Amino acid sequence: MVTVNLDHVFVCGHPALDFAATLRARRTLRFEMFAAPDRLDAWYVESGIVDSVAPSRPSDVERARAVREAVYELITARRLGEAFGDRALEALNGAARKPAAAPQLTRAGRRTDATSQEALSAVARQAVELLSGPDVPLLKECGNPECTRVYIDRSRGMRRHWCGMESCGNKIKAAAYRARKKSALATIDG
Ligand SMILES: [Zn+2]
Repeated sequence: MVTVNLDHVFVCGHPALDFAATLRARRTLRFEMFAAPDRLDAWYVESGIVDSVAPSRPSDVERARAVREAVYELITARRLGEAFGDRALEALNGAARKPAAAPQLTRAGRRTDATSQEALSAVARQAVELLSGPDVPLLKECGNPECTRVYIDRSRGMRRHWCGMESCGNKIKAAAYRARKKSALATIDG
């Protein structure tokens, strides 16, 4: 297994999409962001889903990955205008039926403490909202073929190409620039 710990990234415009993107570069590297329970816990907190989460166990990670794969499958189906698969629906709805993390009002403001399962249920409910909501026509896969992130394109005329300039846009632009330069040189040499 790859042991590098990459930071979690939130660029997709919706927590369910960012969650689906925690298996990165799905067509090539398939880099697992939930490599260990503490990485999953970090995601739950950094995503803003909860303020704190009781330490996940390896079985929680397995469950989260399974729900994530269902979410990705359902997002892909929606994006391509295909029917939802039964197993993916069952996996998502099963997680969404469990009690979800409940926000509490404190003197310092809102606070959500949760178990791993409650946090997962909260993410699953977010996915239900997204996939039944008005943003479905705006779902787009990143223009970097290696990336495989799906984001909500809220730009005018849906002209956004990348999940993020930092994560992909700049990389692709630099590669295009190098390719243009190379072909220009080839023309001069030829
Ligand atoms: Zn991307």
